[in-house]
Amino acid sequence: MPMEPRLIDPFHRAVTYLRVSVTDRCDFRCVYCMSEHMTFLPKKELLTLEELDRMCSAFINQGVTKLRVTGGEPLVRRGIMGFFRAMKRHLDSGALKELSLTTNGSQLHKYAQELADCGVKRINISLDTLDADKFAKVTRWGRLPQVLNGIDAALQAGLRVKLNAVAVKGFNEDELFALQEFCAEKDLDLTFIEVMPMGEDMDDAMRLGQYWSLQDLKDRLKTRFKLKDLDDNTGGPAKYAQVVETGQKIGFIMPLSHNFCESCNRVRITCTGEIYTCLGQEGSMDLRPALRENTESDAPLVAAIHKAIGTKPKGHDFDYSRKKSDGKMTRHMSHTGG
Ligand code: SAM
Ligand code: SF4
Repeated sequence: MPMEPRLIDPFHRAVTYLRVSVTDRCDFRCVYCMSEHMTFLPKKELLTLEELDRMCSAFINQGVTKLRVTGGEPLVRRGIMGFFRAMKRHLDSGALKELSLTTNGSQLHKYAQELADCGVKRINISLDTLDADKFAKVTRWGRLPQVLNGIDAALQAGLRVKLNAVAVKGFNEDELFALQEFCAEKDLDLTFIEVMPMGEDMDDAMRLGQYWSLQDLKDRLKTRFKLKDLDDNTGGPAKYAQVVETGQKIGFIMPLSHNFCESCNRVRITCTGEIYTCLGQEGSMDLRPALRENTESDAPLVAAIHKAIGTKPKGHDFDYSRKKSDGKMTRHMSHTGG
């Protein structure tokens, strides 16, 4: 049975959703996420797989029912399937309701079936373009056929797939309907993500240059389809609409809008054990000392988690409305896993 939610923040929101980044490394270098030459963390900084297990299990014992594994690219972390296999025990006990991951799809041809065997039912695959040249350009190191194979492997393994596409001005505007049709044909869910101002080497002009408002994207969809807004509330920044003609559900993630903070149910852990209680704020706390220095007991870790939840802010500071990217984040998205 799920545990009673015990992680209640100062604004009476129950934290039931944990996103954990298991590595800062990746086999791609997407332009909006990483610089081409990244310096990654030394291995000893990373939580070991056993530490990740202890960390996630502590959250689950405190009432977290949904766990999403992310990165960097989670499937390039050596031994990561062992972690998924270990987390299955929480699904089997009923404490965890959902175990999922966000991946670039490059390794799915190898791991899709094993993920399904571990109880993963739904996965998010990031794909912004169906054009092989554009794909190579935006991911720098990625190759499209590998990801398309990954999508097929996931479907074959019986996983429900959601495609996440970052909306980038002047890049995939012309593929709006191609992406929608691709998903309709393969019966994939589709979500568009507004590009966020992350990373220290993107200057303001570049950030604003990439920004394609999802309101505009939605208006363009409406030139071809009727869209019915759905009021599914996931506690996150996604809003959903249904394409009346096809029945397809399309999500719109607008992390820059404030309208979801009231129902925010999530926190993020980085691969070094820092907890970020709000994606849009710099504030974090390091849970690793409480974890690493107390191998006999989880009590200090649980106390540190509660202390961190007590600092969860009411909302975030992003604001593009004044044509200036206030509240920009200097950390990379791969640090907190999106
Ligand atoms: N490597 C995996 C992947 O690409 O799905 C998981 C980690 S990635 C950081 C998680 C998500 O963040 C991806 O869907 C990616 O497109 C998105 N993302 C990365 N940088 C972003 C940015 N600056 N703005 C909005 N979304 C971003
Ligand atoms: Fe890697 Fe995902 Fe970032 Fe792309 S978005 S560089 S695939 S972590």
